[in-house]
Amino acid sequence: MSKSKTKAEILHLSRVAALGCIVCRNLNLGETPAEIHHCSKGTGLSVRADNFHVIPLCHIHHRAGGHGVAIHAGRKTWEAHYGTEGELLEQVRAEMGLPS
Ligand SMILES: [Zn+2]
Ligand SMILES: [Zn+2]
Repeated sequence: MSKSKTKAEILHLSRVAALGCIVCRNLNLGETPAEIHHCSKGTGLSVRADNFHVIPLCHIHHRAGGHGVAIHAGRKTWEAHYGTEGELLEQVRAEMGLPS
């Protein structure tokens, strides 16, 4: 985890986090403070691309919520409930006005 981030990456990560949890928003639960989740797909291109394949998730939907609620507790079930990482990444990038 000692990879250094570029200024562009730091800026992107802070903008993504500022969107609030994307799952809470899609469920109309309002804006929840978000952590950065690095998507597991589409990250094979280069190390540099990693910090641009991120989605904002709250503590519950990221790690704390348990199986089916937290993405790290079981991604397949989570994606069946909330949409795939790829779909959510598309949504985030569209909201930020970035090309998909
Ligand atoms: Zn959430
Ligand atoms: Zn994560």
